[in-house]
Amino acid sequence: MQQVLIFDECAVAIIFIFWVAALIKKEYQTRSHKLMIVLLSLALISSMADLGAGFVCNYATGGELAISQAYSYNYIYFISHNLLLPIYLLYVYSSIDIWHIYRERSLQHSLWASLVIFEILVLTLNGKVLDIFSITDDVIYERGNAIFIFYAVAAFFCIWIFGVLVHYRRYINRDKLLTMMFLFVIVISGLVLQLYNGIYLVECFTIALSVLFFMIIVRRSDSQVNPITGALKYTACLDTVTKNLYSGKHISIIFIKIMNNDNLHTYLGMQGHNTFLRTVTDRAQVICREQQYNSLIYYMENGLFAIVGEDAPDAKVGLIAEKLRSAYEEEEHFGRFTVIIDARICVVFCPDDIKDAATLFSLSTNFHRTLPDTRDVHFYRDFKNNMEYQVRNDLDEILKRAVENKGFRMYYQPIYSIKEKRYVAAEAVIRLWDPEYGQVSPAVFIPAAEINGYIHDIGEFVFEDVIRFVSTLEMDRLGLKYVEVNLSATQCIEVNLVEKIKNLMFEYGVEPRHLSFELSEGATEINPEIVDSNINKLHDFGVAIALDDYGTGYSNVKRTTSLPIDQVKLDKSFVDMIDDPQMCIVIRETIDMFKEMGKEVLVEGVEKEEVARRFMDLNADLIQGCELIQGFYFCKPLPEDEFIEFIKGHRDEVYLQ
Ligand code: C2E
Ligand code: MG
Ligand code: MG
Repeated sequence: MQQVLIFDECAVAIIFIFWVAALIKKEYQTRSHKLMIVLLSLALISSMADLGAGFVCNYATGGELAISQAYSYNYIYFISHNLLLPIYLLYVYSSIDIWHIYRERSLQHSLWASLVIFEILVLTLNGKVLDIFSITDDVIYERGNAIFIFYAVAAFFCIWIFGVLVHYRRYINRDKLLTMMFLFVIVISGLVLQLYNGIYLVECFTIALSVLFFMIIVRRSDSQVNPITGALKYTACLDTVTKNLYSGKHISIIFIKIMNNDNLHTYLGMQGHNTFLRTVTDRAQVICREQQYNSLIYYMENGLFAIVGEDAPDAKVGLIAEKLRSAYEEEEHFGRFTVIIDARICVVFCPDDIKDAATLFSLSTNFHRTLPDTRDVHFYRDFKNNMEYQVRNDLDEILKRAVENKGFRMYYQPIYSIKEKRYVAAEAVIRLWDPEYGQVSPAVFIPAAEINGYIHDIGEFVFEDVIRFVSTLEMDRLGLKYVEVNLSATQCIEVNLVEKIKNLMFEYGVEPRHLSFELSEGATEINPEIVDSNINKLHDFGVAIALDDYGTGYSNVKRTTSLPIDQVKLDKSFVDMIDDPQMCIVIRETIDMFKEMGKEVLVEGVEKEEVARRFMDLNADLIQGCELIQGFYFCKPLPEDEFIEFIKGHRDEVYLQ
């Protein structure tokens, strides 16, 4: 008996620790978590009852009171102990997210309920019709033959649980599955040991050991509340969603991307930002609760939240998404700060809209870039067949195909000189033709190539193709001074950029004065040292440098003075505002400023004659200031041969007298 007490004391100690931990630890109140608390409570009650019974049987010498105490402890033990496996079965269904399968099958829950009721019934018949256990007059516990009924039911539940684990093994990650199987081995060994050798009363202890293993290995990945946001963690979302997709369970997901997350982090500071994330979670929780939307909220990092809900009518999910949108549109106050949340919301139904985890997670990280840039609630189903969306979403593949199959071509857009009244240069722009999607705009694929690294392959193609083309052109005879090549931000930080360009120019025998490189405004901001060094080296070599897209970013005048910029290209968006009297002043002053700094000024994106005239006629200062114009009004970018024809054909033509 001493042994029983020691085993039971250990069991109680172990289970008690985990029971308290489970109660006080901040956990998301999921069904699985509630079932886990029930399981721990049952394990605790049964081992305490076993300990109590052992104590009475060990130390009491006899008497009515001791006997009835021993009976009570044993009844409590049997009830709680026998409930462990049925509840564990429910836990398995819930934790591997196939609860809906259990719920849908009435045969299964009738069987479950019948077995539980049967066990309680059997227990009530103890000592009357059946002999499960008895307590002798000397307060000794004696096992009866009918106890095998319990073993049989337990064996049945074990097979059931084992069957579920094996059948749905794909939904459970390997470590978790192996641990759950291993726990079985421990519990069954304890059971068998106790069954065949009465002195080793280790059942409760093996259960405690299982709890220990379970809480350390399995639950670690289940109980993943992010203490900062109060939402569940990214890994938990991966787990749940993957399981649901496997099982084909219908779920709805509302993704919320906080676009200004980084800015808010800077503005509010770490502490304030944490409070902010918590507020976002709390608001979502309140709305989901009000709308009785059975869902869990996950924080996927980088300002991305996912609300994963059980199958609900589309209209209801749409309404909740709308409510979230308007809730986040309100001003938010954090102490002395007031902020506005810039949120993008996308609703997805699985498996109707998306069946595989890879597509879903790619959507979650990209939807704010690939779907229209508006604050409306976006339903993924409205876009998945939309060509533009598909292109944006498939850019990695498109770029891979283009790089592998040489799907790029260079086009050339003539640049008109107001002073000389003829075409004096051209800008080389890249074109991509995809066999599946057709023509894809560089404004779409260049930013993606900068992220996925294909920009370096693209750059290599562009340099070689343009330099080759320039080498074939009789520049002076055509009246062309130079061809401009776009340099993307990421290319500017390539350490061997200049070497690469120089080698190609030597190889094809192209003079530096026939080339110019366009640097986009943003490019000057990243890693300024390498950018400066590359640009200076190129300039020293004799290649002209242009600053592209001026007026789109935070026009950093200091950078324009520190870099050897020969030409400034005013962006279309800037130029288009010339009709606004205030902007007209800004444009005029900007041109004046660059002229005084000795830089050439080019106006980009001129589509209409009126705009061209405004730059040439309307304002005397502007006529003096701006010497180059580029735009569809003059000519669109053309393929090599058409470009040569165009230049030849317009050599002596005078525009806009
Ligand atoms: P960008 O360098 O500012 O090039 C000018 C863009 O404006 C070109 O678009 C051109 O076709 C377009 N454009 C010219 N005139 C007009 C006009 O009158 N109206 C309108 N609406 N548009 C006009 P494209 O070719 O689509 O290129 C877009 C951007 O992609 C370029 O802007 C440049 O930043 C980038 N890009 C293009 N080719 C290359 C390249 O070879 N390498 C790199 N790194 N980037 C490139
Ligand atoms: Mg350009
Ligand atoms: Mg530009």
